[in-house]
Amino acid sequence: MARPAVGAALRRCAECGGFEYGGALACGACRALVDGIVEEAWSAFLLPWGVGGDEEVTLADMVVAEPDRHDWRVVDAALDRLLCSACGDRLGRGPVGCSACDLAHGFRYAAIERDRPGARPGNEHAVRVNVSVVRRPQGIAEDEVLARSLMLPVLLVGLLPTVEAAQRAKALIKGCSSPARQAHLVEQVIEDMLAEQRGSAGS
Ligand SMILES: [Zn+2]
Ligand SMILES: [Zn+2]
Repeated sequence: MARPAVGAALRRCAECGGFEYGGALACGACRALVDGIVEEAWSAFLLPWGVGGDEEVTLADMVVAEPDRHDWRVVDAALDRLLCSACGDRLGRGPVGCSACDLAHGFRYAAIERDRPGARPGNEHAVRVNVSVVRRPQGIAEDEVLARSLMLPVLLVGLLPTVEAAQRAKALIKGCSSPARQAHLVEQVIEDMLAEQRGSAGS
């Protein structure tokens, strides 16, 4: 499935009941959607090469060697296809403290992040950071990971939370210990953002 377009309406996930993509930390359906963002770009990247199997790994090696020449989704997908020689996990996703993974994870941020037409400036960077954090939460505070996960649906439709909205979402998560309630509270922040967007589009 293609990732949501700029301006698309948010949809409910049939499995977790939250907004699609937002429940990836606990919901398999949302998780598959988030992985799909990266996999979709990799499939498109592979097409003109007409490669498969071992050749795919060779191509992944090439991409990871020059991350600044490729879209971030292609770089992340390439990393998923390589194994870390130090810890044996997928490169860049090993345990905290694996220096080879830390290095590869750092390099992924050299990749190209191009805003989609109509998206708020900086939106693609926010999408990329949140996808990266959700797929590789090691070493990041739980509240922060949850906030980024729950905010992903609204980023995917092209919006960017103000500093105030982001802080409000984090404060709501911190002040509450029930995951369902946390998701509900952040959804209200998201609804406010969408209402504000509709308001400014109409004026
Ligand atoms: Zn879900
Ligand atoms: Zn490693």
